[in-house]
Amino acid sequence: MPRLEETLDPSDWEGMRRLSHQMIDDAVDYTRGVRERPVWQAMPEAVRANFAGPMPTQPSPADDVYGLLMENMMPYPMGNIHPRFWMWYMGSSNFTGAMGDFLAAILGSNLGGGNHAAALIDQQVVDWLKQMVGFPKQASGTLVSGGSAANIVALTVARNEMAGSNVRENGIGGIEKPLRFYASDQVHGCHQIAVETLGLGNKALRRIPSLADCCMDIDALRSAIAEDRATGFKPACIIATAGTVNTGAIDDLRQLAALCRRENLWFHVDGCIGALLAIAPENKHRVMGMELADSIALDPHKWLHAPFEVGCALVRDAKAHIGAFSLTPEYLETAERGIAAAPWLFDYGVQTSRGFKALKVWMALQEHGVEKFGRLIDQNVAQAAYLTDLIEANPKLELASDTTINIVCYRYEPKNISAAALKHLNTEIMLQMQETGVAAVSDTTVHGKHCLRVAINNHRTVREDLDILVAETVRLGNSLMADGQIRLQG
Ligand SMILES: *Cc1c(COP(=O)(O)O)cnc(C)c1O
Repeated sequence: MPRLEETLDPSDWEGMRRLSHQMIDDAVDYTRGVRERPVWQAMPEAVRANFAGPMPTQPSPADDVYGLLMENMMPYPMGNIHPRFWMWYMGSSNFTGAMGDFLAAILGSNLGGGNHAAALIDQQVVDWLKQMVGFPKQASGTLVSGGSAANIVALTVARNEMAGSNVRENGIGGIEKPLRFYASDQVHGCHQIAVETLGLGNKALRRIPSLADCCMDIDALRSAIAEDRATGFKPACIIATAGTVNTGAIDDLRQLAALCRRENLWFHVDGCIGALLAIAPENKHRVMGMELADSIALDPHKWLHAPFEVGCALVRDAKAHIGAFSLTPEYLETAERGIAAAPWLFDYGVQTSRGFKALKVWMALQEHGVEKFGRLIDQNVAQAAYLTDLIEANPKLELASDTTINIVCYRYEPKNISAAALKHLNTEIMLQMQETGVAAVSDTTVHGKHCLRVAINNHRTVREDLDILVAETVRLGNSLMADGQIRLQG
């Protein structure tokens, strides 16, 4: 009898089994062979054209869909799983984590909460992250899309707690004195978005100058707080950065914690880069004081190498956290028994439906153990020190700032060259390295100095990769100078 209904399930399960096995085989080969491929390559027009076609109204065989991706997507990645990718600040993913994302999707559960195994795994991963950074078990936390979202969640709690009025009910219009948040001038851009989104405005985030080491000038911070109190503002929160995005600088967390206590301010730590140093035996001393924070944002898709995306907001005062977001509409009441007989995880943030981001983290942590992740963090820091030594020993290269953890800023610097020509030269070195697929570094400007920036947040990097980077920088720099492509005073 013909069926009346249709479904998205395969009509040919055995065919789907064969294709799925093929995908797994290809995935293993792809990951194992990553070092043999270019870090990145530009997409030819014909490849781009595949992603500009019309909306598919009619079916295609799953084999064809997959074939198209093997040919046109898999060879053109961003590159961050490659051992010589060091741009911005990305993790390099891991195979078990990728399988976790697959299983999470197969299970299909919604992590808005409820009484099911995935919800327990979500809560367990949050508990483990608390433990890693030295937060008490009674603290609360939530997995979100990344560090930007984690910072917004934490700063929302900070705003509501410090407002002196009921912001949920009355909005920011009910706040008597304008709130002030403080961070160094090295603060990540997501905090500006956060204060804008929170309705406080960009001016509510007062940037405190950083010193030569890129850490916040705490004397300047003290003066700013005093000045704000004297002129009718309400100092509310200090945002310390544990690992700045430019250079990896770590603000003095213990001093800032003490200052917050004295001044009665919320102490937030943006630990998207550095919070996980807490699990690294040789470097954990760098983030001492973080455990005193009222809230921490961290990023398992960075130094735990979880496939994108997963970030985490932790809040010491669980009541304050849930107080900022909980809401029980009539259609989502907790039941006595059954699927809805559990706390709702959506009460800790702005999402209602939530993906099962925890599983990829849970599986990789179970497989390798936390200690190995700590050693990998130490390994990256040691590699950055190694690269720093190579640069200092090379007469063609200059360090552009101190290396604290795993971020190295440097430039190819010939004698007697203008700042504009120097920037042009180093930008060209960076672009040619990307275009030839040898290595991927980004650039930035630290205290007015333009430089190349190498963030070694990569469990596949070995020291020889850094030897290649240095040799390639010098080779490209020399060749650009010899070509006369760079005018010294350009
Ligand atoms: C990466 C980063 C963020 C933003 O995190 P996403 O995961 O990219 O949203 C915030 N702060 C710092 C210091 C970061 O390095």
